[in-house]
Amino acid sequence: MPATPVTVSDLQAVVLDIEGTTCPVDFVTGVLFPHAVEALPGWLQRRQGSPALDPLRQQLLQAWHDETDPAAPPAPAGDATAAELLPWLRWLIAHDRKLTALKDLQGMIWADGYADGQLKAPLFDDVAPALRRWHAAGLRLAVYSSGSVPAQQLLYGHCSDGDLRPLFCGWFDTRLGPKQEAMSYRQLVDALDCPPPRVLFLSDARGELTAAAAAGLQVCGCRRPGNPDPLADGPWPVVETLAALALTPAAA
Ligand SMILES: [Mg+2]
Repeated sequence: MPATPVTVSDLQAVVLDIEGTTCPVDFVTGVLFPHAVEALPGWLQRRQGSPALDPLRQQLLQAWHDETDPAAPPAPAGDATAAELLPWLRWLIAHDRKLTALKDLQGMIWADGYADGQLKAPLFDDVAPALRRWHAAGLRLAVYSSGSVPAQQLLYGHCSDGDLRPLFCGWFDTRLGPKQEAMSYRQLVDALDCPPPRVLFLSDARGELTAAAAAGLQVCGCRRPGNPDPLADGPWPVVETLAALALTPAAA
């Protein structure tokens, strides 16, 4: 049975969350993180002595020397090759340490995984057609996700539907501010140079929808398979597919 369309009029821009909105919520934890762990030994081995990796290697080694947790693997007395960092990196990942250098390293491994076809972003089937339709109608499209902007661009650059990056004119991550704060959405619409009511924000998270609505944006919830929150009782419309959204651009 076709879903009842949700109509939103007079729009200039659509801003989309990723996880749980355009992509299954477990792609990062269920696919990307395990891929980085699995690929790590071979990846480090192949890049032994690579000058491009050296600043990262030194930052990770310094963090190892500075680590005070007695449960951490013992740091080497002096220098270490990239491959010799492996026990430390595995420990950091197992303990979910948010080290920037570790995030950067994971990003490099994902970039290679996407480039050689081992990774592909599993967008929901309705996403690419909707994005193309809205873009063709003159709506500006932007991403606001807690994943870093480079990670967002890797994801949309390597979808089952091809490279969707040219459809987007804005990329925002939490450097803009937390996704649960209205101020972040005020800054976002400023950056897009649109009045808040001319922007539609789509997300699966009620904290984000609430914050965006408080900033004056139009909001719509996304209910996708695997999402923890069905958004059944919020004050916003909810769709199960982007195909159910009938968006009308504002007159030029
Ligand atoms: Mg989400």
